Amino acid sequence: MSRLHDLTVAELRAGLDERRFSATDLARAFLDRIQASTLNAFIDVRPELTLAQAAQADARLAAGERAPLLGIPVAHKDIFVTEGWRSTAASRMLADYVSPFDATVVARLRAAGAVCLGKTNCDEFAMGSSNENSHFGAVRNPWDPQAIPGGSSGGSAAAVAARLAPLATGTDTGGSVRQPASMCGITGIKPTYGRVSRFGMIAFASSLDQGGAMGRSAADCALLLSAMAGFDPRDATSIERPTEDYRRDFGAPLQGLRIGLPQEFFGEGVADDVRAPVEAALQVLRDLGAVTVPVSLPRTALAIPAYYVIAPAEASSNLSRFDGVRYGHRAAVHTDLASLYARSRAEGFGPEVQRRILVGTYVLSHGYYDAYYLQAQKLRRLIADDFTAAFGQVDLIAGPVSPTVAWNLGERSDDPVRNYLADIFTLPASLAGLPGLSMPAGFGAAGRPVGLQLIGRVFDEARLLAVADRFQQATDWHARCPAGAA
Ligand code: GLN
Repeated sequence: MSRLHDLTVAELRAGLDERRFSATDLARAFLDRIQASTLNAFIDVRPELTLAQAAQADARLAAGERAPLLGIPVAHKDIFVTEGWRSTAASRMLADYVSPFDATVVARLRAAGAVCLGKTNCDEFAMGSSNENSHFGAVRNPWDPQAIPGGSSGGSAAAVAARLAPLATGTDTGGSVRQPASMCGITGIKPTYGRVSRFGMIAFASSLDQGGAMGRSAADCALLLSAMAGFDPRDATSIERPTEDYRRDFGAPLQGLRIGLPQEFFGEGVADDVRAPVEAALQVLRDLGAVTVPVSLPRTALAIPAYYVIAPAEASSNLSRFDGVRYGHRAAVHTDLASLYARSRAEGFGPEVQRRILVGTYVLSHGYYDAYYLQAQKLRRLIADDFTAAFGQVDLIAGPVSPTVAWNLGERSDDPVRNYLADIFTLPASLAGLPGLSMPAGFGAAGRPVGLQLIGRVFDEARLLAVADRFQQATDWHARCPAGAA
């Protein structure tokens, strides 16, 4: 028998159902690997809680219950609040916070029988693209310990790539599921805005934040997303739509599928070592019967200024609750109420979060609101219109996830704008609320992974996953394992 951590979720499922191993065996195997890992992918691990959930899953299995995720371990990005484990958003502000309730995503997965392995490291309040903005330290990329894992869901991506967890949740506001998935050589999907409940997801930019699924393959992600998605009356932006089995279109041939290639995604900004694997992956899709069609998303470049006004604006509002009184770290030394607020927030928030609060407060203030925030909202609409026009011609859109492979730890940490510019290919779908997927497409310089992005129409998650699955049936990039994790 292969080692447990090498198995796909379908193989884990079969093994559990056939009683070849128990949920407890599985939980122990992954906990041991987490403990031995030097990637810093986890913020909080509590073996006794994990093993208690595994024992419950074993009891349900023994009683004859069968369900897709029953007994399967899942790691949660530390943006989802969890009863029992700390919920920190990788911030000093919440470093000791233990939530009295589970986020809806966590509760749904728990009810489905999944076993929580702990909380994964991320950028503070999900702000970042390298996972270096964490109070708990940077995460290392399993393919190269000198490289960033991507962010903000870098801990989740690194954990899945290094076989510390078969599945992990992530959140994506402007690319934080897709970009670390790309940089760690795993599969990740951000669904349509509103498809996965934001209740209990620590808010960054509420009109953009969306939970997503991360796994080694599209098949694994489909199982996770099917259990995560669904209407939640406690999230006012949750969409009333029945749950779906995201594997329902698996096996459908790609004949006649029209894939749009936006010229703006293949311009000068894309590094050669990203372009080559992306082009090769598109050729595989063509060989499978898809047709590629040139399209244009002319407002692509405007996604960066629009996002970096809207997201900080919403963040400045969402984060106002962390004042040391209602929520969060309280400064020990203060003279009056104003200094209590100021010192608590100065001590509790890291530099990137403070930068965003400053920008956000500025663009929302009287006299600047019309010039910045309102303009950004208009751009957002135009960017969404670009997609509507493109989807008049094609079924899905493909391109790179990130203009480069993972960079070195520390290389860009004092250059925030350079980090923002690297979000160019993930921000447009976020601003338009569209589903986006990243899947492994090969390797670039220094053996660092490259992802192919697929963007769909609203609610086209099943199609994105089916196309990715078809690709993964024909290739083995998704099955490659980093040397240190073998
Ligand atoms: N890199 C983007 C940012 O820093 C996206 C982050 C995210 O999707 N959470 O805001």
